[in-house]
Amino acid sequence: MIPAQFDYEAPTTIDEALTLLAANPDDAKILAGGHSLLPAMKLRLAQPALLVDIGRIKDLSYIREGGGQILIGAMTTHYELESSALLKQICPLLPECASHIGDVQVRNKGTIGGSVAHADPAGDWPAAIIALDAEMVAVGKNGERTIKAGDFFVDLLTTALDSGEILREIRVPKPAGRFGHAYQKVRHPASGFAVVGVAVALQIGAGGECERAGIGITGVASKAYRAVAVEQALRRQTLDEQTIAAAAAHATDGVDANSDLYASEDYRRHLAKVYTKRAIEKAVTGAG
Ligand SMILES: Cc1cc2nc3c(=O)[nH]c(=O)nc-3n(C[C@H](O)[C@H](O)[C@H](O)COP(=O)(O)OP(=O)(O)OC[C@H]3O[C@@H](n4cnc5c(N)ncnc54)[C@H](O)[C@@H]3O)c2cc1C
Repeated sequence: MIPAQFDYEAPTTIDEALTLLAANPDDAKILAGGHSLLPAMKLRLAQPALLVDIGRIKDLSYIREGGGQILIGAMTTHYELESSALLKQICPLLPECASHIGDVQVRNKGTIGGSVAHADPAGDWPAAIIALDAEMVAVGKNGERTIKAGDFFVDLLTTALDSGEILREIRVPKPAGRFGHAYQKVRHPASGFAVVGVAVALQIGAGGECERAGIGITGVASKAYRAVAVEQALRRQTLDEQTIAAAAAHATDGVDANSDLYASEDYRRHLAKVYTKRAIEKAVTGAG
């Protein structure tokens, strides 16, 4: 379990990091918390010749409000998100989702930026990022660009980021009015990753009807996805038991579900529907 030989650089500015990446376009990798990359290197699934450690770049770790959005630096750890008093108040889906990740050690080192850039199909963050309609801010040699959550997760371990880009910030629209959030997960008993994870962000009108539903599902397919049919079935409806059950039945519509030794395709689809129902019910019950 020893990685192949590699060089290591620890730049202190984003510009320096971008220069290092540009000079090594095919064989450099960004190192954040190392909790996905280092295991992959030890297994020789990844053999980068150069690691660019972004942990010493200032101002990549923060949770702030600005312009009606919640701004999260890419190097913010899972624990910082889990324990943020601000987020518990204004966007409880983020701390709730963080609390489901791995164990205390993983949450203290792993970062939200590393997690979404890694795009593990069973990772927890992508579900919440999709449900909340977040945007990813990527910086490259030609400047910054913003990528919507729905366009960011391309396939298994593949995102819309270019190899020379650094994910700098995640922007989440600040929930307004009456909203309900929930994350429900079936943990794999060995790895702790999501066999199925469902993130729900609801906007609820004065009369109790659903104004907006964001439903992100992870663990089921080769990438996390937006459960569009569930969202549509909830929109403008009163969120009663029948409506929620009927909507949740669409959780895997149009999706190629994974099958493995632990969970067959049918079982995964079943879990996705049951946990979507539970997550919507929890979000409705907890709505402020
Ligand atoms: C025992 C264990 C249990 C775990 N359980 C869970 C779990 O239950 N749920 C879950 O979701 N995750 C789990 N994880 C994964 C964990 O959440 C990782 O922290 C996360 O996937 C990667 O974040 P990182 O900061 O460690 O990134 P790294 O491992 O440093 O990097 C991961 C990848 O992202 C790239 N990258 C990192 N940061 C950036 C950036 N800012 N811009 C562009 N590219 C970047 C790297 O080059 C690399 O390819 C677990 C990990 C371990 C070791």
